[in-house]
Amino acid sequence: MNFSELQQNIVEKGLCARCGICAGVCPVQVISFDQDNFPQLSGKCTSCGLCTKSCPGGDVNFPELSRTLFNTDYDQHDLQGYTENLYIAHPEDNDVRFSGASGGMVTGLLLYLLEKKEIDGALVVDYDSDQPYLTKGILATTPDDIKQAAQSKYCVTPSMEVLRELRKKKGKYAVVALPCQIHGLRKLQQTDPGLGKKIGYIFGLYCNCTLKTNGHLEAIKACNIKLKDVARFGFRGAGWPGGFVVDKKDGSHIPLHTINIKNVMNVMFRLFGAERCYLCVDALAEYADLSFGDFWAFDYSGELAKLERCTLISQRTEAGEKVMRQAAADGAITLHTLPKEFMSQRILKMAQGKKGRNRVRFLRMQSKRKPVPEYHVSMDEPTSRAKRSEFLYRCWFLFRGKMGRTFILKILFSPLGDVLDMVNEKRKKLFGGYSSN
Ligand SMILES: Cc1cc2nc3c(=O)[nH]c(=O)nc-3n(C[C@H](O)[C@H](O)[C@H](O)COP(=O)(O)OP(=O)(O)OC[C@H]3O[C@@H](n4cnc5c(N)ncnc54)[C@H](O)[C@@H]3O)c2cc1C
Ligand code: SF4
Ligand code: SF4
Ligand code: SF4
Repeated sequence: MNFSELQQNIVEKGLCARCGICAGVCPVQVISFDQDNFPQLSGKCTSCGLCTKSCPGGDVNFPELSRTLFNTDYDQHDLQGYTENLYIAHPEDNDVRFSGASGGMVTGLLLYLLEKKEIDGALVVDYDSDQPYLTKGILATTPDDIKQAAQSKYCVTPSMEVLRELRKKKGKYAVVALPCQIHGLRKLQQTDPGLGKKIGYIFGLYCNCTLKTNGHLEAIKACNIKLKDVARFGFRGAGWPGGFVVDKKDGSHIPLHTINIKNVMNVMFRLFGAERCYLCVDALAEYADLSFGDFWAFDYSGELAKLERCTLISQRTEAGEKVMRQAAADGAITLHTLPKEFMSQRILKMAQGKKGRNRVRFLRMQSKRKPVPEYHVSMDEPTSRAKRSEFLYRCWFLFRGKMGRTFILKILFSPLGDVLDMVNEKRKKLFGGYSSN
Protein backbone atom coordinates (compact mmCIF):
# COMPACT_ATOMS: atom_id res chain seq x y z
CA MET A 1 0.00 0.00 0.00
CA ASN A 2 1.47 3.31 -1.02
CA PHE A 3 0.55 6.81 -2.09
CA SER A 4 -0.11 5.86 -5.73
CA GLU A 5 -2.86 3.57 -4.54
CA LEU A 6 -4.48 6.48 -2.70
CA GLN A 7 -4.03 8.64 -5.77
CA GLN A 8 -5.58 6.10 -8.15
CA ASN A 9 -8.37 4.69 -5.96
CA ILE A 10 -9.49 7.81 -4.16
CA VAL A 11 -8.32 11.06 -5.73
CA GLU A 12 -8.60 10.10 -9.40
CA LYS A 13 -11.95 8.40 -8.80
CA GLY A 14 -13.46 11.59 -7.34
CA LEU A 15 -13.79 10.17 -3.82
CA CYS A 16 -11.38 12.48 -2.01
CA ALA A 17 -13.07 14.64 0.64
CA ARG A 18 -9.93 16.81 0.91
CA CYS A 19 -9.91 16.20 4.66
CA GLY A 20 -6.12 16.18 5.14
CA ILE A 21 -5.97 12.94 7.14
CA CYS A 22 -3.53 11.26 4.72
CA ALA A 23 -1.01 14.10 5.11
CA GLY A 24 -1.60 14.16 8.85
CA VAL A 25 -0.79 10.47 9.36
CA CYS A 26 2.11 10.16 6.90
CA PRO A 27 5.09 9.45 9.18
CA VAL A 28 7.62 10.73 6.64
CA GLN A 29 5.53 13.81 5.77
CA VAL A 30 5.64 13.46 2.02
CA ILE A 31 2.02 14.44 1.30
CA SER A 32 1.21 18.06 0.52
CA PHE A 33 -1.80 19.68 -1.16
CA ASP A 34 -2.22 21.21 -4.59
CA GLN A 35 -4.00 24.53 -5.14
CA ASP A 36 -7.39 22.79 -5.19
CA ASN A 37 -6.54 21.09 -1.87
CA PHE A 38 -6.14 17.60 -3.32
CA PRO A 39 -3.25 15.54 -1.87
CA GLN A 40 -0.08 15.11 -3.89
CA LEU A 41 3.21 13.32 -3.29
CA SER A 42 6.08 15.66 -2.53
CA GLY A 43 8.84 13.25 -1.46
CA LYS A 44 9.70 9.56 -1.27
CA CYS A 45 6.85 7.30 -0.12
CA THR A 46 8.01 4.41 2.12
CA SER A 47 4.84 2.38 1.40
CA CYS A 48 3.79 2.17 5.04
CA GLY A 49 0.13 2.22 3.97
CA LEU A 50 -1.05 4.47 6.81
CA CYS A 51 -2.57 7.06 4.47
CA THR A 52 -4.61 4.45 2.59
CA LYS A 53 -5.77 2.73 5.78
CA SER A 54 -6.91 5.97 7.44
CA CYS A 55 -8.50 7.64 4.42
CA PRO A 56 -12.27 8.15 4.81
CA GLY A 57 -12.83 8.98 1.11
CA GLY A 58 -13.49 5.49 -0.22
CA ASP A 59 -14.40 3.36 2.79
CA VAL A 60 -16.15 4.05 6.09
CA ASN A 61 -17.69 1.15 7.97
CA PHE A 62 -20.73 2.80 9.62
CA PRO A 63 -22.09 -0.40 11.23
CA GLU A 64 -18.70 -1.18 12.77
CA LEU A 65 -18.22 2.41 14.00
CA SER A 66 -21.71 2.36 15.57
CA ARG A 67 -21.00 -0.93 17.32
CA THR A 68 -17.53 0.08 18.55
CA LEU A 69 -18.40 3.57 19.75
CA PHE A 70 -22.01 3.20 20.87
CA ASN A 71 -22.65 -0.54 21.08
CA THR A 72 -25.61 -0.08 18.80
CA ASP A 73 -26.67 -0.91 15.23
CA TYR A 74 -26.34 1.66 12.48
CA ASP A 75 -29.71 2.95 11.30
CA GLN A 76 -29.51 4.72 7.94
CA HIS A 77 -32.90 6.41 8.59
CA ASP A 78 -31.94 7.90 11.95
CA LEU A 79 -31.38 11.55 11.04
CA GLN A 80 -29.76 12.54 14.36
CA GLY A 81 -27.37 9.64 14.77
CA TYR A 82 -26.79 8.02 18.15
CA THR A 83 -27.54 10.79 20.69
CA GLU A 84 -27.45 10.48 24.47
CA ASN A 85 -28.36 14.06 25.24
CA LEU A 86 -29.32 17.11 23.28
CA TYR A 87 -28.31 20.49 24.71
CA ILE A 88 -28.69 24.16 23.99
CA ALA A 89 -25.76 25.98 25.55
CA HIS A 90 -23.55 29.03 25.58
CA PRO A 91 -20.31 29.95 27.37
CA GLU A 92 -20.58 32.36 30.28
CA ASP A 93 -17.95 34.60 28.69
CA ASN A 94 -20.02 36.92 26.49
CA ASP A 95 -17.07 37.83 24.24
CA VAL A 96 -16.62 34.17 23.36
CA ARG A 97 -20.37 33.60 23.02
CA PHE A 98 -20.94 36.51 20.66
CA SER A 99 -17.77 35.90 18.62
CA GLY A 100 -18.84 32.36 17.73
CA ALA A 101 -20.70 31.23 14.63
CA SER A 102 -23.66 30.05 16.71
CA GLY A 103 -23.29 30.46 20.47
CA GLY A 104 -19.51 30.10 20.77
CA MET A 105 -19.70 26.72 22.49
CA VAL A 106 -16.92 25.05 20.49
CA THR A 107 -14.52 27.84 21.39
CA GLY A 108 -15.88 28.03 24.94
CA LEU A 109 -15.31 24.34 25.63
CA LEU A 110 -11.84 24.37 24.07
CA LEU A 111 -10.88 27.29 26.31
CA TYR A 112 -12.33 25.49 29.33
CA LEU A 113 -10.42 22.27 28.57
CA LEU A 114 -7.18 24.19 28.01
CA GLU A 115 -7.59 26.10 31.26
CA LYS A 116 -8.26 22.89 33.18
CA LYS A 117 -5.17 21.32 31.52
CA GLU A 118 -7.37 18.54 30.13
CA ILE A 119 -5.88 19.35 26.72
CA ASP A 120 -2.59 20.86 25.58
CA GLY A 121 -4.09 22.40 22.49
CA ALA A 122 -6.71 22.06 19.78
CA LEU A 123 -6.73 21.49 16.07
CA VAL A 124 -8.90 24.26 14.61
CA VAL A 125 -9.28 26.25 11.39
CA ASP A 126 -8.14 29.85 10.99
CA TYR A 127 -7.51 32.25 8.12
CA ASP A 128 -4.11 32.41 6.47
CA SER A 129 -2.24 35.52 7.61
CA ASP A 130 -0.64 36.08 4.17
CA GLN A 131 -3.83 35.50 2.17
CA PRO A 132 -6.59 36.38 4.67
CA TYR A 133 -9.37 35.06 2.40
CA LEU A 134 -7.90 31.51 2.50
CA THR A 135 -8.27 29.06 5.39
CA LYS A 136 -5.87 26.64 7.02
CA GLY A 137 -5.72 24.16 9.88
CA ILE A 138 -3.68 25.21 12.92
CA LEU A 139 -2.69 23.64 16.20
CA ALA A 140 -3.85 26.25 18.71
CA THR A 141 -2.05 26.01 22.05
CA THR A 142 -2.97 29.36 23.64
CA PRO A 143 -6.36 30.86 24.54
CA ASP A 144 -5.73 33.67 22.04
CA ASP A 145 -5.10 31.22 19.18
CA ILE A 146 -8.32 29.37 20.02
CA LYS A 147 -10.35 32.59 20.19
CA GLN A 148 -8.82 33.85 16.95
CA ALA A 149 -9.98 30.67 15.15
CA ALA A 150 -13.67 30.95 16.23
CA GLN A 151 -16.34 31.06 13.50
CA SER A 152 -17.25 28.65 10.71
CA LYS A 153 -15.27 28.47 7.52
CA TYR A 154 -17.51 26.92 4.89
CA CYS A 155 -14.81 26.01 2.40
CA VAL A 156 -12.71 22.92 1.79
CA THR A 157 -9.81 22.98 4.26
CA PRO A 158 -7.61 19.86 4.63
CA SER A 159 -7.06 20.85 8.25
CA MET A 160 -6.29 17.30 9.42
CA GLU A 161 -2.82 17.66 7.88
CA VAL A 162 -1.97 19.41 11.16
CA LEU A 163 -2.15 16.03 12.90
CA ARG A 164 1.46 15.62 11.80
CA GLU A 165 2.39 18.17 14.49
CA LEU A 166 0.80 15.98 17.19
CA ARG A 167 3.15 13.14 16.34
CA LYS A 168 6.07 15.23 17.62
CA LYS A 169 4.26 16.44 20.72
CA LYS A 170 3.34 14.95 24.06
CA GLY A 171 -0.06 15.40 25.69
CA LYS A 172 -3.70 15.34 24.66
CA TYR A 173 -5.48 17.45 22.10
CA ALA A 174 -9.01 18.25 20.98
CA VAL A 175 -9.81 18.16 17.29
CA VAL A 176 -12.61 20.20 15.68
CA ALA A 177 -13.69 18.40 12.55
CA LEU A 178 -16.35 17.88 9.90
CA PRO A 179 -18.14 14.51 9.68
CA CYS A 180 -15.88 13.13 6.89
CA GLN A 181 -12.79 14.14 8.87
CA ILE A 182 -14.18 12.38 11.92
CA HIS A 183 -14.60 9.18 9.88
CA GLY A 184 -10.88 9.40 9.11
CA LEU A 185 -10.00 10.21 12.74
CA ARG A 186 -11.90 7.17 13.97
CA LYS A 187 -10.08 5.02 11.41
CA LEU A 188 -6.69 6.36 12.39
CA GLN A 189 -7.41 5.69 16.06
CA GLN A 190 -7.42 2.02 14.98
CA THR A 191 -4.63 2.06 12.39
CA ASP A 192 -2.24 4.42 14.18
CA PRO A 193 -2.91 4.09 17.94
CA GLY A 194 0.26 6.05 18.85
CA LEU A 195 -1.10 9.15 17.13
CA GLY A 196 -4.73 8.24 17.88
CA LYS A 197 -4.30 8.29 21.63
CA LYS A 198 -3.21 11.92 21.54
CA ILE A 199 -6.70 12.82 20.35
CA GLY A 200 -8.59 13.33 23.59
CA TYR A 201 -11.78 14.87 22.22
CA ILE A 202 -13.43 15.01 18.81
CA PHE A 203 -15.75 17.98 18.40
CA GLY A 204 -17.83 17.60 15.23
CA LEU A 205 -19.65 20.28 13.28
CA TYR A 206 -23.02 19.57 11.67
CA CYS A 207 -22.35 19.73 7.93
CA ASN A 208 -24.69 20.13 4.98
CA CYS A 209 -21.95 20.61 2.39
CA THR A 210 -18.67 22.48 1.85
CA LEU A 211 -17.64 24.95 -0.84
CA LYS A 212 -14.70 24.49 -3.14
CA THR A 213 -12.21 27.30 -2.49
CA ASN A 214 -13.22 29.27 -5.57
CA GLY A 215 -16.75 29.68 -4.11
CA HIS A 216 -16.26 32.53 -1.70
CA LEU A 217 -13.43 33.99 -3.79
CA GLU A 218 -15.79 34.34 -6.76
CA ALA A 219 -18.43 35.81 -4.42
CA ILE A 220 -15.93 38.49 -3.30
CA LYS A 221 -15.06 39.26 -6.92
CA ALA A 222 -18.76 39.37 -7.93
CA CYS A 223 -19.10 42.20 -5.39
CA ASN A 224 -16.33 44.06 -7.24
CA ILE A 225 -13.80 43.64 -4.42
CA LYS A 226 -10.24 42.77 -5.36
CA LEU A 227 -8.65 39.94 -3.35
CA LYS A 228 -5.54 42.06 -2.83
CA ASP A 229 -7.69 44.61 -0.93
CA VAL A 230 -9.08 42.04 1.52
CA ALA A 231 -7.78 42.32 5.09
CA ARG A 232 -10.19 39.70 6.47
CA PHE A 233 -13.05 37.64 5.09
CA GLY A 234 -15.82 36.20 7.26
CA PHE A 235 -18.41 33.59 6.26
CA ARG A 236 -20.51 34.45 9.29
CA GLY A 237 -19.46 38.00 10.17
CA ALA A 238 -21.55 40.99 11.30
CA GLY A 239 -23.93 39.70 13.96
CA TRP A 240 -26.12 36.60 13.98
CA PRO A 241 -26.76 34.61 11.89
CA GLY A 242 -24.30 36.81 10.05
CA GLY A 243 -23.12 36.50 6.50
CA PHE A 244 -20.29 37.02 4.03
CA VAL A 245 -18.32 40.07 5.13
CA VAL A 246 -15.13 41.66 3.85
CA ASP A 247 -12.97 43.95 5.97
CA LYS A 248 -10.89 45.87 3.45
CA LYS A 249 -7.34 47.07 4.01
CA ASP A 250 -8.60 50.66 3.75
CA GLY A 251 -10.61 50.04 6.97
CA SER A 252 -14.04 49.68 5.35
CA HIS A 253 -16.37 46.89 6.43
CA ILE A 254 -18.51 45.48 3.65
CA PRO A 255 -21.33 42.94 4.18
CA LEU A 256 -21.82 41.21 0.81
CA HIS A 257 -25.55 40.48 1.18
CA THR A 258 -28.65 41.18 3.22
CA ILE A 259 -30.27 37.79 2.47
CA ASN A 260 -30.27 35.22 5.28
CA ILE A 261 -26.98 33.29 5.24
CA LYS A 262 -28.82 29.94 4.99
CA ASN A 263 -30.37 31.01 1.70
CA VAL A 264 -27.05 32.29 0.39
CA MET A 265 -25.37 29.01 1.33
CA ASN A 266 -28.15 26.99 -0.29
CA VAL A 267 -27.31 28.64 -3.61
CA MET A 268 -23.54 28.52 -3.03
CA PHE A 269 -23.61 24.78 -2.21
CA ARG A 270 -25.37 24.08 -5.50
CA LEU A 271 -22.88 26.12 -7.53
CA PHE A 272 -19.65 25.39 -5.67
CA GLY A 273 -20.28 22.31 -3.50
CA ALA A 274 -17.30 19.95 -3.44
CA GLU A 275 -18.19 16.85 -5.50
CA ARG A 276 -17.48 14.35 -2.72
CA CYS A 277 -20.03 16.16 -0.52
CA TYR A 278 -22.76 14.99 -2.90
CA LEU A 279 -22.09 11.38 -1.87
CA CYS A 280 -21.84 12.05 1.86
CA VAL A 281 -24.55 10.67 4.15
CA ASP A 282 -23.41 11.94 7.56
CA ALA A 283 -24.99 15.32 8.29
CA LEU A 284 -24.73 15.74 12.06
CA ALA A 285 -21.19 14.46 12.74
CA GLU A 286 -22.59 11.17 13.97
CA TYR A 287 -19.26 9.81 15.28
CA ALA A 288 -18.03 12.82 17.27
CA ASP A 289 -17.92 13.01 21.07
CA LEU A 290 -20.01 16.16 20.79
CA SER A 291 -21.54 17.60 17.61
CA PHE A 292 -22.36 21.30 17.26
CA GLY A 293 -24.81 23.22 15.10
CA ASP A 294 -26.89 26.36 14.91
CA PHE A 295 -29.73 26.88 17.34
CA TRP A 296 -32.46 28.93 15.67
CA ALA A 297 -34.43 30.16 18.69
CA PHE A 298 -37.21 31.64 16.57
CA ASP A 299 -38.17 28.16 15.37
CA TYR A 300 -39.31 27.41 18.93
CA SER A 301 -41.98 28.82 21.21
CA GLY A 302 -42.10 29.61 24.93
CA GLU A 303 -38.89 29.62 26.97
CA LEU A 304 -36.86 27.99 24.18
CA ALA A 305 -37.62 30.91 21.84
CA LYS A 306 -35.72 33.18 24.23
CA LEU A 307 -32.45 31.22 23.93
CA GLU A 308 -30.84 33.28 21.19
CA ARG A 309 -27.10 33.07 20.46
CA CYS A 310 -26.76 29.48 21.65
CA THR A 311 -25.23 26.38 20.11
CA LEU A 312 -27.21 23.17 19.64
CA ILE A 313 -25.18 20.18 20.82
CA SER A 314 -25.63 16.43 20.30
CA GLN A 315 -23.78 14.54 23.03
CA ARG A 316 -22.82 11.10 21.81
CA THR A 317 -20.07 9.62 23.99
CA GLU A 318 -19.09 9.44 27.64
CA ALA A 319 -16.13 11.77 27.00
CA GLY A 320 -18.57 14.33 25.59
CA GLU A 321 -20.94 13.96 28.52
CA LYS A 322 -18.12 14.46 31.03
CA VAL A 323 -16.93 17.73 29.46
CA MET A 324 -20.43 19.18 29.35
CA ARG A 325 -21.18 18.17 32.94
CA GLN A 326 -17.89 19.50 34.34
CA ALA A 327 -17.99 22.76 32.39
CA ALA A 328 -21.54 23.40 33.65
CA ALA A 329 -20.62 22.46 37.24
CA ASP A 330 -17.64 24.84 37.12
CA GLY A 331 -19.87 27.66 35.89
CA ALA A 332 -18.08 27.97 32.52
CA ILE A 333 -21.23 27.37 30.47
CA THR A 334 -25.00 27.68 30.74
CA LEU A 335 -26.73 24.50 29.73
CA HIS A 336 -30.32 23.56 28.85
CA THR A 337 -31.22 19.96 28.18
CA LEU A 338 -33.63 19.43 25.32
CA PRO A 339 -35.66 16.23 24.90
CA LYS A 340 -34.48 14.45 21.72
CA GLU A 341 -37.98 14.81 20.23
CA PHE A 342 -37.41 18.57 20.38
CA MET A 343 -34.50 18.38 17.95
CA SER A 344 -34.64 21.42 15.66
CA GLN A 345 -36.98 20.73 12.72
CA ARG A 346 -34.73 22.95 10.62
CA ILE A 347 -31.67 20.79 11.34
CA LEU A 348 -33.64 17.58 10.77
CA LYS A 349 -34.85 18.96 7.44
CA MET A 350 -31.26 19.68 6.46
CA ALA A 351 -30.18 16.17 7.43
CA GLN A 352 -33.13 14.58 5.67
CA GLY A 353 -32.53 16.60 2.51
CA LYS A 354 -28.81 15.85 2.45
CA LYS A 355 -29.09 12.16 3.24
CA GLY A 356 -32.05 11.66 0.90
CA ARG A 357 -30.53 13.43 -2.12
CA ASN A 358 -27.14 11.86 -1.61
CA ARG A 359 -28.63 8.37 -1.38
CA VAL A 360 -30.34 8.99 -4.73
CA ARG A 361 -27.02 10.01 -6.27
CA PHE A 362 -25.15 7.18 -4.62
CA LEU A 363 -27.52 4.53 -6.00
CA ARG A 364 -27.59 6.10 -9.46
CA MET A 365 -23.79 6.14 -9.66
CA GLN A 366 -23.56 2.64 -8.26
CA SER A 367 -26.00 1.36 -10.88
CA LYS A 368 -23.82 2.95 -13.59
CA ARG A 369 -20.77 1.25 -12.02
CA LYS A 370 -19.20 4.62 -11.22
CA PRO A 371 -17.02 4.91 -8.09
CA VAL A 372 -18.90 5.43 -4.83
CA PRO A 373 -17.67 5.21 -1.24
CA GLU A 374 -18.18 1.90 0.57
CA TYR A 375 -20.28 2.56 3.68
CA HIS A 376 -20.94 -1.15 4.37
CA VAL A 377 -24.66 -0.44 4.31
CA SER A 378 -27.15 -1.59 1.74
CA MET A 379 -28.86 1.69 0.84
CA ASP A 380 -32.66 1.58 0.86
CA GLU A 381 -34.64 2.77 -2.14
CA PRO A 382 -35.02 6.57 -1.73
CA THR A 383 -38.49 8.13 -1.44
CA SER A 384 -40.03 9.87 -4.45
CA ARG A 385 -39.67 13.15 -2.50
CA ALA A 386 -35.91 12.57 -2.22
CA LYS A 387 -35.73 11.80 -5.94
CA ARG A 388 -37.60 14.99 -6.80
CA SER A 389 -35.41 17.02 -4.46
CA GLU A 390 -32.25 15.56 -6.01
CA PHE A 391 -33.52 16.32 -9.51
CA LEU A 392 -34.25 19.96 -8.64
CA TYR A 393 -30.87 20.28 -6.93
CA ARG A 394 -29.17 18.84 -10.02
CA CYS A 395 -30.91 21.40 -12.27
CA TRP A 396 -28.72 24.03 -10.61
CA PHE A 397 -25.65 22.21 -11.92
CA LEU A 398 -26.44 23.75 -15.32
CA PHE A 399 -25.02 26.95 -13.82
CA ARG A 400 -21.78 25.43 -12.52
CA GLY A 401 -19.82 26.66 -15.57
CA LYS A 402 -17.88 29.92 -15.18
CA MET A 403 -20.47 32.07 -17.01
CA GLY A 404 -23.43 30.52 -15.21
CA ARG A 405 -21.78 30.91 -11.79
CA THR A 406 -20.90 34.54 -12.39
CA PHE A 407 -24.43 35.28 -13.63
CA ILE A 408 -26.06 33.74 -10.52
CA LEU A 409 -23.59 35.38 -8.11
CA LYS A 410 -24.19 38.81 -9.64
CA ILE A 411 -27.93 38.35 -9.04
CA LEU A 412 -27.52 36.81 -5.58
CA PHE A 413 -25.47 39.73 -4.28
CA SER A 414 -27.63 42.47 -5.85
CA PRO A 415 -30.97 44.11 -4.91
CA LEU A 416 -32.66 41.75 -7.41
CA GLY A 417 -31.37 38.86 -5.26
CA ASP A 418 -33.17 40.37 -2.25
CA VAL A 419 -36.42 40.58 -4.22
CA LEU A 420 -36.15 36.99 -5.47
CA ASP A 421 -35.33 35.82 -1.96
CA MET A 422 -38.43 37.58 -0.62
CA VAL A 423 -40.61 35.94 -3.27
CA ASN A 424 -39.09 32.55 -2.44
CA GLU A 425 -39.75 33.02 1.28
CA LYS A 426 -43.37 33.98 0.56
CA ARG A 427 -43.71 30.89 -1.66
CA LYS A 428 -42.36 28.67 1.12
CA LYS A 429 -44.77 30.16 3.67
CA LEU A 430 -47.73 29.80 1.30
CA PHE A 431 -46.99 26.22 0.32
CA GLY A 432 -45.90 25.02 3.75
CA GLY A 433 -42.16 24.98 3.02
CA TYR A 434 -39.71 25.83 5.77
CA SER A 435 -39.03 29.55 5.99
CA SER A 436 -35.53 30.79 6.82
CA ASN A 437 -36.53 33.99 8.53
C1 LIG B 1 -18.50 23.47 6.40
C2 LIG B 1 -19.47 23.64 7.53
C3 LIG B 1 -20.82 23.35 7.32
C4 LIG B 1 -21.73 23.50 8.36
N1 LIG B 1 -23.05 23.22 8.14
C5 LIG B 1 -23.95 23.41 9.14
C6 LIG B 1 -25.33 23.20 8.91
O1 LIG B 1 -25.75 22.86 7.80
N2 LIG B 1 -26.19 23.38 9.95
C7 LIG B 1 -25.75 23.77 11.19
O2 LIG B 1 -26.57 23.92 12.10
N3 LIG B 1 -24.44 23.98 11.43
C8 LIG B 1 -23.55 23.82 10.44
N4 LIG B 1 -22.21 24.04 10.66
C9 LIG B 1 -21.77 24.31 12.05
C10 LIG B 1 -22.00 25.75 12.49
O3 LIG B 1 -21.68 26.64 11.44
C11 LIG B 1 -21.10 26.09 13.69
O4 LIG B 1 -19.77 25.81 13.38
C12 LIG B 1 -21.46 25.31 14.91
O5 LIG B 1 -22.79 25.56 15.25
C13 LIG B 1 -20.57 25.68 16.11
O6 LIG B 1 -20.81 27.01 16.45
P1 LIG B 1 -20.06 27.67 17.70
O7 LIG B 1 -20.45 29.09 17.76
O8 LIG B 1 -20.28 26.81 18.89
O9 LIG B 1 -18.56 27.51 17.23
P2 LIG B 1 -17.36 28.57 17.31
O10 LIG B 1 -17.11 28.91 18.73
O11 LIG B 1 -17.58 29.66 16.33
O12 LIG B 1 -16.15 27.65 16.83
C14 LIG B 1 -16.14 27.03 15.59
C15 LIG B 1 -14.95 26.11 15.55
O13 LIG B 1 -14.97 25.37 14.34
C16 LIG B 1 -13.69 25.47 13.71
N5 LIG B 1 -13.95 25.41 12.26
C17 LIG B 1 -14.43 26.38 11.48
N6 LIG B 1 -14.54 25.97 10.21
C18 LIG B 1 -14.09 24.69 10.20
C19 LIG B 1 -13.94 23.73 9.18
N7 LIG B 1 -14.25 23.99 7.91
N8 LIG B 1 -13.45 22.51 9.51
C20 LIG B 1 -13.12 22.22 10.79
N9 LIG B 1 -13.23 23.11 11.81
C21 LIG B 1 -13.72 24.33 11.51
C22 LIG B 1 -13.16 26.82 14.15
O14 LIG B 1 -11.76 26.88 14.03
C23 LIG B 1 -13.64 26.86 15.60
O15 LIG B 1 -12.76 26.19 16.45
C24 LIG B 1 -21.29 23.93 9.64
C25 LIG B 1 -19.93 24.25 9.84
C26 LIG B 1 -19.03 24.12 8.79
C27 LIG B 1 -17.59 24.49 9.02
S1 SF4 C 1 -7.30 11.06 3.48
FE1 SF4 C 1 -8.70 12.73 2.99
S2 SF4 C 1 -7.45 14.14 1.75
FE2 SF4 C 1 -6.36 12.20 1.81
S3 SF4 C 1 -7.06 11.12 -0.04
FE3 SF4 C 1 -8.38 10.46 1.64
S4 SF4 C 1 -10.14 11.82 1.55
FE4 SF4 C 1 -8.51 12.76 0.34
S1 SF4 D 1 1.61 7.48 4.68
FE1 SF4 D 1 3.03 5.87 4.14
S2 SF4 D 1 2.16 5.07 2.22
FE2 SF4 D 1 1.24 7.06 2.54
S3 SF4 D 1 2.54 8.52 1.45
FE3 SF4 D 1 3.28 8.45 3.55
S4 SF4 D 1 4.88 6.93 3.50
FE4 SF4 D 1 3.67 6.61 1.65
S1 SF4 E 1 -20.62 17.18 3.26
FE1 SF4 E 1 -19.57 15.37 4.00
S2 SF4 E 1 -17.78 15.18 2.66
FE2 SF4 E 1 -18.53 17.27 2.49
S3 SF4 E 1 -17.36 18.42 4.00
FE3 SF4 E 1 -19.31 17.84 4.96
S4 SF4 E 1 -18.81 15.94 5.97
FE4 SF4 E 1 -17.17 16.28 4.51
